[in-house]
Amino acid sequence: MSASIFTVKKDVVEMCRRIYNHGYVAANDGNVSARVDDGHIIMTPTGVSKGFLKTQDLVVVDIDGNKVAGTTRPSSESKMHLAIYKAREDVNAVVHAHPATATGFAVAGIPLTQCVLPEVIIAIGSIPIAEYATPGTQDLADVVVRYLNQYDAILMENHGAITVGSDVTSALFKMETMEHFAKIMLVAHQLGNIHGLPPRDVETLLDLRKKFGIRSTAPACTIEGTCEAPPPKEKPEPSSPVQSNLIEEVTRQVMEKLKG
Ligand SMILES: [Zn+2]
Repeated sequence: MSASIFTVKKDVVEMCRRIYNHGYVAANDGNVSARVDDGHIIMTPTGVSKGFLKTQDLVVVDIDGNKVAGTTRPSSESKMHLAIYKAREDVNAVVHAHPATATGFAVAGIPLTQCVLPEVIIAIGSIPIAEYATPGTQDLADVVVRYLNQYDAILMENHGAITVGSDVTSALFKMETMEHFAKIMLVAHQLGNIHGLPPRDVETLLDLRKKFGIRSTAPACTIEGTCEAPPPKEKPEPSSPVQSNLIEEVTRQVMEKLKG
């Protein structure tokens, strides 16, 4: 990374504004960091909305979390960010946010692992769900790092999402791709069919990934062997006779009123 600390600080502020404007965070949620040439980490402060952040609000810490510069307190998720930088030398930026649709999948317990969209397979690969741990704890840092050793984008159970990249723009773009993917999967699910790409086409995409020099250790999809969509969920239980009678009665009354 050859950008100056001032340029990277401006990039971080710009990225924070974008995640706020995209609606990926509410209130003071989310945190962003970036590693600069001397190994120090620029971190967003705790308790400041990402939409109103200024470069002077940012904190600079060393890899062990000791403050080097800044007047604010670093994010409550600093441990998680620092653990990621320690584990991944190729990572220079980390974005954590709560984008509504992707987080919905994290709450529903549905990982974004299906091989359905070429750009997602190439840019990110598969997006698993890391198990829940209390925000701000070393436990959460440990769980997240276990996944990010292999993946560049993960969902966090009952919490949100996190992406990493070689710079702030790349980490932000992965967050955007993830949320867009989640929205598309939700629509496809509502339409009643999710058509997975056949393994042959996935292989072609993986070759492209290698050609583009994109980190190839992140699995493209985790559906065993076939990359086909999982079987549809079982149909919901039929309504009980009491429920059915009630629905019929309400429908009859509404129809009566409409006629009248
Ligand atoms: Zn969070």
